This record gives sequence, C-alpha cells and structure tokens, in this order.
Amino acid sequence: PLYPDLPKNCLVVLIGAAGAGKSTLAGTWPASQVLSLDAMRCAVSDDAGCQEATGDAVDVLHLVLERRMARRVFTVVDATNVSRESRQPLVAAAKRHNMPAIAVIVATPADVCVARQGPRPANRTVPEDTVRAQYKAMVHSHQSLRAEGFNEVLFADALYRLEPFLKRLSQ
Ligand code: ATP
Ligand code: MG
Repeated sequence: PLYPDLPKNCLVVLIGAAGAGKSTLAGTWPASQVLSLDAMRCAVSDDAGCQEATGDAVDVLHLVLERRMARRVFTVVDATNVSRESRQPLVAAAKRHNMPAIAVIVATPADVCVARQGPRPANRTVPEDTVRAQYKAMVHSHQSLRAEGFNEVLFADALYRLEPFLKRLSQ
C-alpha cells in the first residue's frame, strides 16, 4: 500500500471526482479490504454503471461496512464520497466501533478527470458537468472533514507523485 503509516485498524474513505484515480489507488490494497460502490452496483444489478441501482448499492455497502467495523478490520471505501451526506454514515459506522476514520482526498485536476472519461466504456462515463461538480464538492469538503469526525485528512496526489521518486531512491 502507498500509506505504510496508516493505523492497522482504521477506515479509509477515498474522496474524489469520477476519473480521479480512486479505484487505481484502492487497487494497492488487498481486494477484500476495499468496498467499492461500483462493485456493489454490479452485485445488485449486474451493471457497475447502473445509476438506478445506487440506492440499493449504498445500502449493501453500509451493511458490509458495519459488519467489518464491528470486527475492527482495515477497510477502504471506494466511491466519490464528495458530499457530506454520503460520508456521514461511513464516519458514524467507524465511530460506533471506535475505529479511526481517515479521509484520503484524490485531488486530481478537474480537466484530467474529464479527459479520463473519454476512453472509458459507455456505461462507465460520467458527464463533464457532473465530473466538474464532483471536483468542486471535493474541494469544498476539505475544510469540513475534521468537523465531520475524520481523525486525519490526507492527500493522495502528493504520495502518487513521490512514489516513483521513492522507488528510485530505494533501488
Ligand atoms: P470513478 O469514480 O469513476 O470510479 P476513479 O476515481 O475510480 O473513477 P480510476 O478508475 O481509478 O478513477 O482512474 C481513471 C483513469 O485514470 C484510469 O484509466 C486510470 O488508469 C487512470 N489513472 C488513475 N490514477 C492514475 C495516476 N496516478 N496516473 C495516471 N493515470 C491514472
Ligand atoms: Mg472507481
């Protein structure tokens, strides 16, 4: 994982627009530790891009998260999580079981997120205005994450940029 200093038992909430690279980052952890909203959409509807299935997918994600927090196992939530409403139940689940909640902001520039929609499969492309609104919401959320109950707020992009450098140093 990119974050060797994270607590062993905690909740990591990824926050970023579509195309920011959340799932790519999530892929650095073992798959069993990642709760992906897309995967939950697929689990309930056979279609990871099915927006109509979002409500059911969120229900399932919350249920699995609750059970994992009760077991105090390390968990990453891979969804945009740009609204306070989407984050509140995640933080609440962690707090119920005295697990630290850590926000990891994937602050990829909006233009890059939009450009990354192009090559995606049709059912997975997010409209440009939606991506830009998600980006704005992500920027806006930064200041309130501590007040929402997150114990730490980290940025993914700096670590991404550092990673090749650190690799070279360790060779
Ligand atoms: P969504 O919310 O729609 O699921 P996402 O935040 O999970 O989006 P990804 O699917 O991880 O985004 O990444 C989108 C695209 O950007 C992918 O093609 C991925 O290969 C590319 N990408 C992700 N991270 C990086 C990176 N650090 N450098 C270069 N390309 C990247
Ligand atoms: Mg993703």
